[in-house]
Amino acid sequence: MIPSTASAFSLPAKGALLALLLALGGCGGGGGAEPEPLPCHGYGCGYDVQGPAGMRLRYAPVVEPSDPRANVVFLEQLYQMVASCAGIQAPAPLVVVEKQGTLVSPVDGLAHAGLYYADPDLVLIDDSAWTYWSLKHETVHYLLHHALGNSDPDHTSSLFTTCVELPFAMP
Ligand SMILES: [Zn+2]
Repeated sequence: MIPSTASAFSLPAKGALLALLLALGGCGGGGGAEPEPLPCHGYGCGYDVQGPAGMRLRYAPVVEPSDPRANVVFLEQLYQMVASCAGIQAPAPLVVVEKQGTLVSPVDGLAHAGLYYADPDLVLIDDSAWTYWSLKHETVHYLLHHALGNSDPDHTSSLFTTCVELPFAMP
């Protein structure tokens, strides 16, 4: 029993180290001696609702369930609009709404209105006036990563203009 336990332990330990490295810059919880790093790039992988097209959305506690930003069907429509425009089809990623000012990029250390992380795919949008624009913008990063293996962090693709500025109607 001891040898098999020891060999089975090596893989999770490696995964835990990777999770710890990815979580650098994520916010800590409350006051434990050694706070557990959250999966999904330090933000956690949980979600409140899943839409009919498969989008997983976490909005609580940032916005109320009645808020349009908690309406997964509406957010799926925005996602599909961008995907159709780009001509790239991919299953919708996990989308998490966070408070404005909390989305700090590990690349530049600055707060952003939206962030995209790959592997696992995670789209973060804040609750500022830019929420829907951010969702469409980060969707372009996600779709490019899905199609090309490169999310185009320098925004060289014309899709960032043509597919993000499309008008839409609020629900
Ligand atoms: Zn961007």
